[in-house]
Amino acid sequence: MKATLNLLNSDPFNFSEESKNLFLESFKENALYHYQNHEFTRKLWDKFNFHPAHLLKEEDLAQVPGTMVHLFKEHEFCSVSRERVVLILTSSGTGGQKSQQFLDEISLSNVKKLAYVIHENLGLVDRRLYNYLCFTYDPNVAKDLGTAFTDELLTNFTGKNEVYYAIQWNDEKNEFVLNEEGVVEALKRFSLSSLPTRILGFPAILHDIIVKYNIKINLSSESWLQTGGGWKGSADKEISKKEFRAFIEERLGIPQKNQRDLFGMVEHGIPYVDCEKGNLHIPNFSRVFIRSPFDLSLKPLGERGLIHFLCSYNFSYPAPSLLTTDYGRLGTCDCGRGGNILILEGRAGVSKHKGCAMKALELMEKK
Ligand SMILES: [Zn+2]
Repeated sequence: MKATLNLLNSDPFNFSEESKNLFLESFKENALYHYQNHEFTRKLWDKFNFHPAHLLKEEDLAQVPGTMVHLFKEHEFCSVSRERVVLILTSSGTGGQKSQQFLDEISLSNVKKLAYVIHENLGLVDRRLYNYLCFTYDPNVAKDLGTAFTDELLTNFTGKNEVYYAIQWNDEKNEFVLNEEGVVEALKRFSLSSLPTRILGFPAILHDIIVKYNIKINLSSESWLQTGGGWKGSADKEISKKEFRAFIEERLGIPQKNQRDLFGMVEHGIPYVDCEKGNLHIPNFSRVFIRSPFDLSLKPLGERGLIHFLCSYNFSYPAPSLLTTDYGRLGTCDCGRGGNILILEGRAGVSKHKGCAMKALELMEKK
């Protein structure tokens, strides 16, 4: 695991030849581990005549066959014995199909490390105390849900004062419900606090609550909004990211440079986080290829296609090369960080694998 530790100790947005080589070496190490320890991955790669030893230069990475994301929903894929798994993350998708990601001790430590350095580089790590409003399940109640884990991880990037979890277990209904009144009260309480606020949430839900309760407060220019997963949530009332950022600045007093979106998938685990200009940066801890949905050929910068992810931190879950059903494009940003940005363009196909945002929207609609 030495090459992977070297990678995770490096600058996430430096794409010099030397840095890119750190990813290549780490990926080779990881791919070889899965090849030797996961039968399905070995057979798939053999079928495509691919072996990790073929990875000699950066361009070779595009040759790694992708495992389709739906296979992880249908099978429990794991490259270590189950006794070594210390955490199972489950995506809270509805409709019965859930993905489970298995983390052994080293992989869990790796994902925490990489999330930290990415957020630190993007200016999100701060030792001061913050009040938190999280639009998620309390991680003490729902330990295995991806978003609850993510939020627990994200709240550890700063000092914590009060943490309010908006999705709460309701004994009467025997299910999780979104406590809207609780959210409104927390926002008002935090606006009167001398401490800044961080909101972790889904854009569509936050937008609807602000409108419904006609909220206009000032959480201060030191406050942050970190969103995830909600942009395509409710298509009928979809609002653009740009409009949303201006709306949040006006209604909550959170400057646009402190509003950051995050894209992540339970099966992949790498966080793609907005810089101050609102672009999702791809770190040197992963590779993102855009492929034609017809023949999986590589698409050039700027063209739309299916997203194919590579990562190297996880030795327990055999998803080093994940072919998704999400559409996206690669682009560039002028904020000074190296590498490309990921522009999300929605999902392929008619049947949607609903993510956490959709589930949370349903929770809200039920009320
Ligand atoms: Zn940028």
